Amino acid sequence: MIRYSRYLMPTTKETPSDAEVVSHRLMLRAGMIRKVASGIYNYLPAGLRVLRKVEKIIREEMDRAGAQEVLMPTVVPSELWKESGRWDAYGKELLRFRDRADREFCLGPTHEEVITDLVRREVRSYRQLPLNLYQIQDKFRDEIRPRFGLMRGREFFMKDAYSFDADEEGAAESYRKMYDAYCRIFSRMGLSFRAVEADTGSIGGSSSHEFMVIAESGEDAIVSCGSCSYAANLEKAECVPPAAGSPGTVAKVGSPRKVPTPGKRAIAEVASFLGIDPGNLIKTLLFESEKGDVAILVSGRYEVNEVKVKNFLGVEWVRLAPEERIRELTGAPSGYAGPVGLKLRLLADHSVRAIASGAAGANEKDAHLADVVPGRDFSPETYSDFRLVTEDDRCPRCGGALRCSRGIEVGHVFRLGTKYSKSLSATYLDAGGKERLIVMGCYGIGVGRTAAAAIEQHNDADGIVWPISIAPFEAVVVPVNVKHEGIAQESALIAGELSARGIEVLLDDRDERPGIKFKDADLCGIPVRVTFGEKNFAAGFAEVRDRRTGETERVEISRLAERVHAAVEAKRKECSQ
Ligand code: ATP
Ligand code: MG
Repeated sequence: MIRYSRYLMPTTKETPSDAEVVSHRLMLRAGMIRKVASGIYNYLPAGLRVLRKVEKIIREEMDRAGAQEVLMPTVVPSELWKESGRWDAYGKELLRFRDRADREFCLGPTHEEVITDLVRREVRSYRQLPLNLYQIQDKFRDEIRPRFGLMRGREFFMKDAYSFDADEEGAAESYRKMYDAYCRIFSRMGLSFRAVEADTGSIGGSSSHEFMVIAESGEDAIVSCGSCSYAANLEKAECVPPAAGSPGTVAKVGSPRKVPTPGKRAIAEVASFLGIDPGNLIKTLLFESEKGDVAILVSGRYEVNEVKVKNFLGVEWVRLAPEERIRELTGAPSGYAGPVGLKLRLLADHSVRAIASGAAGANEKDAHLADVVPGRDFSPETYSDFRLVTEDDRCPRCGGALRCSRGIEVGHVFRLGTKYSKSLSATYLDAGGKERLIVMGCYGIGVGRTAAAAIEQHNDADGIVWPISIAPFEAVVVPVNVKHEGIAQESALIAGELSARGIEVLLDDRDERPGIKFKDADLCGIPVRVTFGEKNFAAGFAEVRDRRTGETERVEISRLAERVHAAVEAKRKECSQ
């Protein structure tokens, strides 16, 4: 039992001005966290209790899935990162520094290198595989825009697991086990989530899923099918190519005509000025990459998906060309680029092929071209999928209707193949004595982000409404007047009895007004509240209140512990598998 009068849970009424999302506001107001520097926090006792509960559930399910807990250092020597090639590739999120002997180190943002180094030294034979090692550890990423409290911090707790298998088949099995463990983990936390297909970037392959907690405030856009189980991150979601334009219409179209479009550069403006459907405008976007510049063409109805461009080019980065570069490449300001006569690699989205005859920028200020026919007036190097899916698209698996929603990525499972075992030479000897590369997978969960996501999903006007499995306390006992001797005694007694029954109890023994105590109990989201009021007490009763429904029940003090125990058990059951 914990006594609030001695407990550091400094609640506040004010809404901090820099907290943009509800979970950040409520974690501050409920006295769970305090900021030390941008993206760096102190975890106060109640906040830490929540994080430890999240960790406990993760540990239980990881252990159940056969993974073994290890702990790696946060300070990692540069040599390992140089060996994998990521010392240069990772960019500024990697915080680098030197020790007194001038040796380079970084603060680990993820631990593929360290774990692969451990395994390559310890694993020799196929008999030692499969192996799954995990840790729950403080990570550091020098995020460009830390925000939303624990949701995107710079220093944060992460569970990271790594699987090692003899072959792809084994790796697929390890992946499936982690996927299932993740489903159990997030269900036990009472979260409504969805596993969505995710981009695998430069590593390739199709096996990567992000676990998304569905929430309006989520930074990720996700697409899901109403008819089948298909769900994907928007940046990954595939577009079904449309039928090609009919050649019959093409024959009637004369060669491109230049049309003055003074000051018109936005798609909607140009289309309405020319009196055409925006879908018939050939939007031309110029991108820079480490392998040079390209023009991406897409129907004006759609947006370019940069991740698809990046994957097609097989590059580390792409970015929209800045104004200056656009002028150099097209001879015109932005808004007037077009594929006709453009001396640049042209890559077209499938939606462009469906345009029988359209309009495009003329590569000249204040001018567009009409009657532009793809394939006749310009020839892209390829027609492929370069755009973002919309709700008008059909499911790439079953043709059903697609829905867009938002999610918070709380976990990520990824089949790595041999990316790290190759660069770090992690091999084993197979049954025939032949040396082979270990096949790997990696699996992350953000501990603090998961707690924040739970608040995003479970809150009301009065504060947090914790699922009981991750609540800082399961029950709070509130004596409305601590100066009333009988009430003070009885409430301490009940709190002690609940505690003895294995319930995590907070006794609000502060000498505060009842209104303040009730507000704090609600704000902190404690699932069950037991109230000792003077009138009820005189009659031998107390009140039991459900934080989520607000329902109250008058219970005889003699049955109180039993009743609260039952209420807590019922809530625990909701969060069990
Ligand atoms: P994001 O796209 O949100 O930056 P990520 O793809 O970089 O995430 P991973 O490298 O897959 O994330 O990390 C595993 C998990 O760690 C994520 O699913 C998330 O829950 C958590 N995480 C990642 N970055 C942060 C952060 N800056 N603050 C808190 N948690 C984070
Ligand atoms: Mg990131």
